[in-house]
Amino acid sequence: EGTIRFDDVKFHYDVARPILKGISFEVPAGKTIAIVGPSGAGKSTISRLLFRFYDVTGGSVSIDGQDLRSVTQESVRGAIGMVPQDTVLFNDTIAYNIRYGRPDATEEEVREAARMAQIHDFIERLPEGYAAEVGERGLKLSGGEKQRVAIARTILKAPPILILDEATSALDTHTEREIQTALDQVSRNRTTLVIAHRLSTVVNADQIIVLQAGEIAERGTHTELLAMK
Ligand code: ADP
Ligand code: ADP
Repeated sequence: EGTIRFDDVKFHYDVARPILKGISFEVPAGKTIAIVGPSGAGKSTISRLLFRFYDVTGGSVSIDGQDLRSVTQESVRGAIGMVPQDTVLFNDTIAYNIRYGRPDATEEEVREAARMAQIHDFIERLPEGYAAEVGERGLKLSGGEKQRVAIARTILKAPPILILDEATSALDTHTEREIQTALDQVSRNRTTLVIAHRLSTVVNADQIIVLQAGEIAERGTHTELLAMK
């Protein structure tokens, strides 16, 4: 479950300016694809199409052989977990933020997800901004900690497909390493699409696509791409 297929996908936000110019790839269920390339190449657009925030303007995107245009947006989004670059937290406890997306989860399940993401020490705390509003002392979360809240949420939701927007370049090396461990854990056995700027962060992907101006410039494994240089 979770095979992703892009078949000659074309997309534009504005008809005068094509963004994706015929992109094809397939990710077998449980495997990882990384999409790397410079800013503006169209990487996030690919994840938005997979999420069905937009429909393709040519070609097709399918999950498990089903064209996304023939399934509801809710079912597509329910099957995908996303760890974005900037996680915006809801005005409530960290535990509530983890539970969001699977309200039926037990407290033990929430704690276990928090442990895996290494944020179990403070799940009953309130994020700083909100705490001040209700007159309490809150917790100032770093960018990396917020990202780990999103990781815990995804571990709990356990979707077959995962999108990781790896903007870890803004984080220090220690935090980056910690997050990488959590991300490796959550992406295991799950179809994963990683969006990254640097080839060095996606060494273990089964398949890497280098996107340039809406076209696939190179594809291969990390070793193959290094050999091309
Ligand atoms: P990347 O993720 O590789 O940085 P994006 O997919 O975000 O690239 O963007 C690709 C191009 O599409 C960029 O030139 C960007 O300015 C443009 N773009 C992104 N979102 C929109 C939008 N909502 N409307 C119009 N143009 C957009
Ligand atoms: P759900 O319906 O499963 O709660 P959503 O569709 O609301 O999921 O969002 C899923 C994830 O996608 C969230 O983590 C959210 O931060 C992220 N997200 C929402 N909108 C966008 C967007 N326009 N671009 C990128 N990521 C988004």
